[in-house]
Amino acid sequence: MAFQKPKGTADLLPENTKQWQYVEDIFRAVLADYQFEEIRTPIFESYDLFSRGVGETSDIVSKEMYNFQDKGGRELALRPEGTAPIARAFVENKLFGPEHAKPYKVYYQGPMFRYERPQSGRMRQFHQFGVEAFGSDNPATDVETIALAMDLFQELGLESLKLVINSLGDLESRLAYREALIAYLKPHVEELSEDSKTRLHKNPLRVLDSKDKKDQAIVANAPSILDYLNDTSKEHFEAVKEMLEALDIPYEIDSNMVRGLDYYNHTIFEVMTEAETFGSLTTICAGGRYDGLVEEVGGPATPGFGFAIGMERLLLILNAEDIELAEEEALDVYVIGIGESTNLESLKVVQAVRSAGLSADRDFLNRKIKNQFKTANKKNAKVVLTLGENELENGTINFKVMKSGKESVVELEDIYDGDFEKLFNLKVSDMTAFNEFFKKED
Ligand code: ATP
Ligand code: MG
Repeated sequence: MAFQKPKGTADLLPENTKQWQYVEDIFRAVLADYQFEEIRTPIFESYDLFSRGVGETSDIVSKEMYNFQDKGGRELALRPEGTAPIARAFVENKLFGPEHAKPYKVYYQGPMFRYERPQSGRMRQFHQFGVEAFGSDNPATDVETIALAMDLFQELGLESLKLVINSLGDLESRLAYREALIAYLKPHVEELSEDSKTRLHKNPLRVLDSKDKKDQAIVANAPSILDYLNDTSKEHFEAVKEMLEALDIPYEIDSNMVRGLDYYNHTIFEVMTEAETFGSLTTICAGGRYDGLVEEVGGPATPGFGFAIGMERLLLILNAEDIELAEEEALDVYVIGIGESTNLESLKVVQAVRSAGLSADRDFLNRKIKNQFKTANKKNAKVVLTLGENELENGTINFKVMKSGKESVVELEDIYDGDFEKLFNLKVSDMTAFNEFFKKED
């Protein structure tokens, strides 16, 4: 019986992982500039962490969780998102202590799990690359982190992105808005979707986030949360806007944007693209401020700000926009062995070349010399070493620089000694030229 991968998952084959690694490398370099360090937390956590952290009424918790009981009867869940686990780790490892930097800045990457209806850019196992900054309520942290997100995309060469922001204010502002929103929605209650009917009293802001077309038409005329911000909240949002402008980062405001997770307050943002792949505006990065979350999961009151990038969506867009991801890596040395008797010596030669810090490969299937050369060309080999029965007897190997076609015969002993500069006789007597040829760091 042949098996299939579970619905909503993907195999990332080498041609894919090459692209992912390219993106991840760029991200890591930018994150180092911003002084974020990597954190890795478990793939599963206690179910309660998410129901508390992300919110009982969120789609993520109420519909999309991969939760299960382990053999010890513990209620666990595959993580649907990264922020609650990192807040948990922040508290559990006392990262709020005086010996730690403030803000405490970390990034994470890895698989997340949500039971959703799979479609392009929407998977059941997907990957996020995200950052969190704990301990600063300075609006400059909001803006620096948004700037970081924009920088990540810019470094990849991704343009025509749209930054959309909103403010959810502090608790007082949200409570005032909640009343106004309920008052607005009540007369429409019969027209709302079943989900939104339930949300109306439990968490009316959720209704704004509804994916239902009829709900969306109703909330289009809902009062704006921005009219209900108290002075502190207004001040914070004004500062964020002013700082974005100071950095020349264009943005739009969408006062109906609420985000799908309950822990947000003050600034929230999304980065969207209009790329053809999805036919409509798609969010590839989303985040915001979550000043209550650390306390919610049992730590001291600590402000926080973060975002997550959806890697699958990002890769779809990068490929749709034909953005070059990863250069062709040339192979340093390909070893051709003619006849089965060369098998052992070929094994030793490739290992010796690798020991010298060069990349090497060989044929294992005793194929014809012509086919082996084809492979060497396909792999873009810089040097081909050919070993036949004659060479074996003489203790030599044929050496060919592919670019110039220049050939010579060298001693096998010299290969095993690792004296490659001499042995490759590249007319490059000095180390710098050798390193240049093989693109090694001096
Ligand atoms: P959506 O409204 O599309 O469901 P969301 O609000 O649930 O998104 P977040 O929880 O904010 O998304 O996650 C941040 C990013 O992670 C999203 O902008 C998206 O790029 C990506 N993402 C979220 N869910 C999925 C999924 N099921 N498959 C692939 N990527 C996802
Ligand atoms: Mg979702």
